[in-house]
Amino acid sequence: PITSSDPIENHQICVCVRKRPLSKKEIGKSEADVITIPNKENVIVHEPKLKVDLTKYLENQQFRFDYAFDEHANNDVVYRYTAQPLVECIFEGGMATCFAYGQTGSGKTHTMGGNFSSKGQQDCSKGIYLLAAKDVFKLLNSKYKKLDLVVGASFFEIYSGKVFDLLNDKAKLRVLEDHKSQVQVVGLREEVVTNTDQVLQLIQHGNTVRTSGQTSANQHSSRSHAVFQIILRQRVRNKIHGKFSLIDLAGNERGADTSSSDRNTRMEGAEINKSLLALKECIRALGRKGAHLPFRASKLTQVLRDSFIGDKSRTCMISMISPGMSCCEHTLNTLRYADRVK
Ligand code: ADP
Ligand code: MG
Repeated sequence: PITSSDPIENHQICVCVRKRPLSKKEIGKSEADVITIPNKENVIVHEPKLKVDLTKYLENQQFRFDYAFDEHANNDVVYRYTAQPLVECIFEGGMATCFAYGQTGSGKTHTMGGNFSSKGQQDCSKGIYLLAAKDVFKLLNSKYKKLDLVVGASFFEIYSGKVFDLLNDKAKLRVLEDHKSQVQVVGLREEVVTNTDQVLQLIQHGNTVRTSGQTSANQHSSRSHAVFQIILRQRVRNKIHGKFSLIDLAGNERGADTSSSDRNTRMEGAEINKSLLALKECIRALGRKGAHLPFRASKLTQVLRDSFIGDKSRTCMISMISPGMSCCEHTLNTLRYADRVK
């Protein structure tokens, strides 16, 4: 059955799905591709034959989203339909947010940050972080030149409910909320940037800091949310004009680690689970008058509070899915979550 989204079209929220291609390793293991994207909106998960408990998957499941990208779509195309339409909103004084959601290994970092080879080489020039920054500078120097704005960038991660500054040697930061519920990450470093090369340097530096001491980039990043922000400020008063937050979320399968025998893993799992549930509710509240905004339920939603309020704010979620049969259960979880966001 087609699971229907809310009939009231909400242009403030865009929910998309991106399927990655099978990897060489998966092809080597003759892993079956169980995902079909028959058109630009639908995703079909095919009944895996014989290998799994058939009572769980009695029929093909179909979902519909604003956009569905198949394995042939590159980052440029994904960017064009997801984050790019949000760039202008920050010049108009709004908050823009773009989330990459999905299982570890599904392509979140490939989409947002760029490519990492196993040798630690980075190419972040094709990720959405940089593509967005490019367009920000383009608009800053043309259509919105008169606004006389300055661009800043910050990059931090949220790990087990704590905030660490990736542009300042992983300094642990406090989050404060004033009596007007304005949330501030105290001492978060914000670098002034004037061109995309500088932004690229910051992204690569932050990524290195993020994964330093880890044997694999995915080991650590599967448990933490990375938040990259492009901030527009008025040159004269230094007041924030608009902000674009681009978020590479923790692997959603980690939210299920709540029954692990390892205490740390269990606590991390509970925290991730809590933050992803709160995130769903906060996104849904955007554009719904009077809707409950449970932003205090997690550090992630707390620091992003600004993004979930205001008529001018816009959000986009890109849900990443792996094509393989062995990922089927996680893929269905991802699609169900994404379906509930809108
Ligand atoms: P995640 O951040 O969700 O854990 P990654 O972005 O690290 O996943 O992707 C896992 C692997 O799959 C990486 O080697 C990455 O280069 C590759 N990959 C992901 N998405 C794509 C894609 N659309 N096309 C080609 N390779 C991809
Ligand atoms: Mg990643």
